[in-house]
Amino acid sequence: MSDGEILVIGGGIGGLTAALAIARSGRAVRVLERAPEFAEIGAGLQLAPNATRLLDRLGVLDACVEVGVLPERLVFNDALTGERLTHLDLGEGFRRRYGGPYVVMHRSDLLRILVEACRAQGVALENGKQVDTVTTEPGGVTVTCADGSHHTGVLAVAADGLRSGSRGRLSDDEPIDSGYVAYRGAVPLDEVTGPVSLSEVVVWFGPGLHLVQYPLRSGRLFNQVAVFRSPGFAAGDPDWGNPDELDAAFSVTCESVRMAIPSLWRTNRWPMYDREPLDNWLTGRTVLLGDAAHPMLQYLAQGACQAIEDGVSLAGSLDRHLTDAVPDAVSVDKALHAYQDERIPRTAHIQRTARIWGDMWHIDGVGALLRNEVFTQRAVDDYRHVDPIYGA
Ligand code: FAD
Repeated sequence: MSDGEILVIGGGIGGLTAALAIARSGRAVRVLERAPEFAEIGAGLQLAPNATRLLDRLGVLDACVEVGVLPERLVFNDALTGERLTHLDLGEGFRRRYGGPYVVMHRSDLLRILVEACRAQGVALENGKQVDTVTTEPGGVTVTCADGSHHTGVLAVAADGLRSGSRGRLSDDEPIDSGYVAYRGAVPLDEVTGPVSLSEVVVWFGPGLHLVQYPLRSGRLFNQVAVFRSPGFAAGDPDWGNPDELDAAFSVTCESVRMAIPSLWRTNRWPMYDREPLDNWLTGRTVLLGDAAHPMLQYLAQGACQAIEDGVSLAGSLDRHLTDAVPDAVSVDKALHAYQDERIPRTAHIQRTARIWGDMWHIDGVGALLRNEVFTQRAVDDYRHVDPIYGA
């Protein structure tokens, strides 16, 4: 029944990277995205070398670097005292060590670059396609969309995000609300209300809160993300995480951090969710990818990076196992198992580490004193803690 296509459900960073990686091997790929156009929110994204190495392999890194920024340092400051605790050197030595740069860029630029690369590779890109059901049948899958259209393919890749419908067929778990909420803002440089560094990613952390800052688009835009633990969440307030809470949370921080808060967008806020790792991403001929498979708290800035790793890993696995034009069920099963066997341990580890990282950033009291002591003692070229993430 299959017409040989690989069907990708969801055209975010994960789905488009997977589509591009698979299409580069000469396979027919169709992306079904429910939104009327391929779009990302207009904020920034950090891409560590575990992702940029792969973007290079996919032929799109130069385009990303052209519109992005290569920061020199990742700086960690105490948000209460303003003290600089440590930094990670992101310069030439870092790039050599990991075989790729640390890039910060506008999300919509990355999405545009991926869409263009997919188009050039012959990927069929469809918008307004809300996938309702996926059925495994002898020889392939049939996907049915809300507009009544059907698509058949060899297999389906569910890259449909945190609230993935396909994940619901594998597990009855729900997104876990951390009680933290993020406010973002990517604004022209002259609209930024506080001090800026155009050569660094700066993280300020304090009890129950943090602020991340970095430049975008060659320094023409400045991106900020402020995150805090909502008292209203704990109290069961339906309006938890509102802008009054934002102002109250950051009122105790040092002047540089306080000055940043008015530049944030106030009309939108992003509650921070993750889920427990799953030990299976596969049902029939449908496999999960990206946030659908392993949504994580954003403290390691790895959610999109891991989705990019997933896409390249899946394409490699299909290459190794699907050698016939019309692959048999055993080969498809082998390929999808090989992909999830490679990806689940790594992404589960990063999901768990992101939670620990958040606890460390947000700790108070003696814990904060000890953290600051350890941070101030470390050498700036000590990469032990990021080696397992950036180096794998
Ligand atoms: P999504 O981006 O959620 O895409 C899913 C797509 O599927 C969407 O386009 C959606 O419309 C579509 N879809 C959903 N259901 C259907 C359906 N039924 N049919 C068809 N289409 C459907 N990660 C990093 O690596 N670096 C960072 O610096 C970073 N910063 C972050 C900051 C914040 C505040 C947050 C919240 C996250 C951050 N992340 C970061 C995480 C990163 O944004 C996500 O992990 C990543 O975008 C996930 O991509 P995805 O393609 O898997 O899912």
